[in-house]
Amino acid sequence: MERYPSKYPRRKPVAVGSVRLGSDSPVSVQSMISVPSYDLEGSVKQAVALEKAGCEILRAAIPDQDAVRLIPALKKAVSIPIVADIHFDYRLALSCVEQGVDKIRLNPGNIGGRDRVKQVVTACRNANVPIRVGVNGGSLEKEILSKYGKPTAEALVESALGHIRLIEQADYDRIVVSMKSSDVATMIAAYRLMAEQCSYPLHLGVTEAGSERMGTLKSAVGIGSLLCDGIGDTIRVSLTEDPVKEVLAARDLLRALGLTGGVRIVSCPTCGRTRYDMIPLVHAVEDALRDCTAPLTVAVMGCVVNGPGEAREADVGIAGGDQCGILFRKGQIIRKIPADEMLPALLAEVELLIQDQKRTL
Ligand code: SF4
Repeated sequence: MERYPSKYPRRKPVAVGSVRLGSDSPVSVQSMISVPSYDLEGSVKQAVALEKAGCEILRAAIPDQDAVRLIPALKKAVSIPIVADIHFDYRLALSCVEQGVDKIRLNPGNIGGRDRVKQVVTACRNANVPIRVGVNGGSLEKEILSKYGKPTAEALVESALGHIRLIEQADYDRIVVSMKSSDVATMIAAYRLMAEQCSYPLHLGVTEAGSERMGTLKSAVGIGSLLCDGIGDTIRVSLTEDPVKEVLAARDLLRALGLTGGVRIVSCPTCGRTRYDMIPLVHAVEDALRDCTAPLTVAVMGCVVNGPGEAREADVGIAGGDQCGILFRKGQIIRKIPADEMLPALLAEVELLIQDQKRTL
């Protein structure tokens, strides 16, 4: 799918295993394993569920040497690239690279000196493993915090540029950058600033975004605003929830912006003209078409009088009336249908449209 036009420098292409970031590559969805790292079986089970839900890059926390065994186990269980999330201990990075990890997330300023950075970079270079510099508002360096007084956008960017410089000084440029903040406006400003100052692919996210409802909203505003600026190469919607929900929310976010294939559902808010129970029908249509990859807009509307006209941009739609409904394409009524046949009639029409699209390809 085409990206939004951007006034910022084009991003360098960086491959994370089989997934390409940057340049014109599609925006990819990532998530993170949330079960404890010592639970190998649970981690593998969750990885499989995340891949099935549409996760394209999967990160796992590697807090100690014991957790390194997750890397080969996850690589065996799923076909998506695996990222090791490492804090402070450069030896964990070396072990994960040895075990075939596809990317590491590590801030080189925190691993204890240039010699260690050099060792990590050399291992990454030899194995074609990119490094994500991941700065976030809660873990800024003391000097930067005291310079700016709080985790401002400028502070996040200065911190990230410092880590990037260490990798560049070791003569490596397979870098991805994130600068997350739990404050949406700060996060947006930080990524805009960084997009002007470097051309590495950007991993977008609002950190500590909250539970499903608020976290999804914050991510939609933060990540969505940046994607509309043409900023962002891979996204994570962080939720205090089962990470499968993160992936579904991220996919819906991309779908809402037309950045991924799949059906777009439009439905009206209903009003005093509505004469049927429309909410369950919208949910049923969403469930039935969630995995459909056809680039279609499907409408579910609250009344037969205004519904077809209000949804005339939809490829196909249904509008409900008193004990009946009507099926329409691009605002033109096709036929009347009994109330209890609205869902199957709509799905059959969607299928017909998909077949039509295939024939014309
Ligand atoms: Fe109201 Fe009909 Fe418009 Fe829905 S389509 S908001 S029911 S007028």
